[in-house]
Parts: sequence; structure tokens; C-alpha cells
Amino acid sequence: MHRNGFETVSVWQETTPTLPADRKAREQCDVCIIGAGIAGLTAAYLLRREGHDVQVVDAFDMGAGETGRTTAHLTAVLDDRFVTLEKLFGTKGAQLAAASHRAAIDTIERIVREAEIDCDFERVDGLLFASGAEQVDLLNREGGAALNAGFTDLVAVDSLRLPGVRFHGPALRFPRQAQFHVGKYLQGLARDFPASDFNRAYVNNPLVASVVGDLGPILIIVMSALLLAPIVYLAHLPFAKRAP
Ligand SMILES: Cc1cc2nc3c(=O)[nH]c(=O)nc-3n(C[C@H](O)[C@H](O)[C@H](O)COP(=O)(O)OP(=O)(O)OC[C@H]3O[C@@H](n4cnc5c(N)ncnc54)[C@H](O)[C@@H]3O)c2cc1C
Repeated sequence: MHRNGFETVSVWQETTPTLPADRKAREQCDVCIIGAGIAGLTAAYLLRREGHDVQVVDAFDMGAGETGRTTAHLTAVLDDRFVTLEKLFGTKGAQLAAASHRAAIDTIERIVREAEIDCDFERVDGLLFASGAEQVDLLNREGGAALNAGFTDLVAVDSLRLPGVRFHGPALRFPRQAQFHVGKYLQGLARDFPASDFNRAYVNNPLVASVVGDLGPILIIVMSALLLAPIVYLAHLPFAKRAP
């Protein structure tokens, strides 16, 4: 899971063996997925389970990108805050954001069970707390917005004591969030992939081209190989980095 000797190595990367990979991409497949992070490998797992011929291409290794550096909290309590989401997208938009993240956690839990992936997955409560008096008003407003967004099981805590936090103020407790070992999870998703389904190659973004006609999208992989796939899923850039 390492990209080079200069980067720090996360605990997930240190404790997850690399994925066997073919050096050369297969020339044809039903679906080509670029990026072996949590998005690409989860999609690959689900598509393979439905019988599709899937090939995953990554410049480095599985979990070499953001996934290998995550804190591995699976939470529907979004960093962007529901007060903000409600303001930008209305109550329905905030509800959709919360529901989609809850569904994602449920999906991961279902995959962990059905594929028997031993990845320390556990449901835990999430706590959002004020670390100073100036944050109490925002926390209260966030509680209201989270309720509107559908967190009906949300519990308001009057005074929370946490080791290392001097301010003992209010908090919001969100039941049924989760945590896991993301490296073991990726390993489990890819457990049954033959080496020919995982290829190490750098995909040059501007050269991913869509051709109108019978051919479908054409993917050109730098270093000469040409790969044809009717469906190409670009899972190599985490969403946050795609925004201008
Ligand atoms: C410090 C930190 C903490 C985080 N904590 C959390 C958290 O607690 N909970 C949470 O939900 N999210 C968290 N995140 C965000 C989360 O990690 C990412 O949203 C998620 O991992 C993105 O997954 P991905 O599969 O989209 O992308 P990635 O994991 O980045 O996968 C992309 C893959 O594509 C490959 N690639 C890139 N470019 C090319 C190319 N040109 N050719 C071929 N391959 C290429 C990369 O090598 C990489 O393996 C955190 C992120 C960071 C950095």
C-alpha cells in the first residue's frame, strides 16, 4: 500500500499486505475501474458478485490513496454540518445526505457479514461535542438541524467529560455509527480477485476518452496499452479533490 519511501505510513497500510497484481492491463473487460480505494474496490466487489467481468487499475496499490490514510470512522454525521447542508440544499437535501451515508454504512456492514470479512467492524455511538463555550450555540443549532435531517435517535448530553478535553460542555450522541480496519476491509473485498483482475498502471486523465459509436468509451493507459471497456468507472480521484 506504499507509494514511495518519503510518505508516512498509516497503521492500515502497515498492517495490510499488498494485492497481487498483473503488470499489464487486460485488453478487454465489461467494466474497468480506475482506483483501488474504498470506492473502486467496493464497486468492483458488488459488480463481480453480479457476474460482471471487472478489471481494477491502480497506479500503486489498493488503499494507496486517501483510503489508506482515513481515520476509518463510518459516520452519517457529516463534517460539513447539517446546519450548512440545510441552508444550502433545504431540509430534503440534508435528509438525502444523511440517508445516503446511513445506507453506505449499512452496505458496508452487509458486505462484511456476507463476505465474512474479518475487519474489526463494529457499531459505535458517535459524539459531537463543543470544545469551548463559543461552540455551544453552534452545537445546539446543529442538534436541531440533525433532527430535521432524520436523526430521530439523537441524544442530547448535558455535560460530557472526555480525557484530555478541559471544557465539560454539551454534546450530541449519535447512535449506530461505526468503525473498522479499512485495510482489512479492502483486503476482504479483493480476496477473490485473480491477479489478472488487478493491474498496476498509471492512467493519464486527459487520455480517458469517450468515443461515440459502437466502441463505447476507450481508455488509453500510458505506457502504450490500449484498453477497451464499455463501462469505465473513474474512482481514482476522491470527490473532495474534484471540486474546483
Ligand atoms: C486524514 C484523513 C482522515 C479521513 N477520515 C475519514 C473518516 O474518518 N471517515 C470517512 O468517511 N472519510 C474519511 N476521510 C476521507 C476518506 O478517506 C476518503 O473520502 C475516501 O478514502 C476516498 O476513497 P476513494 O476510493 O474515493 O479514493 P482513494 O482512496 O484516494 O483511491 C483512489 C485510488 O486511485 C489511484 N489513482 C489515483 N490517480 C490515478 C491514476 N492517474 N492512475 C491510476 N490510479 C490512480 C490511487 O493510487 C488510489 O489508490 C479521511 C481522509 C483523510 C486524508
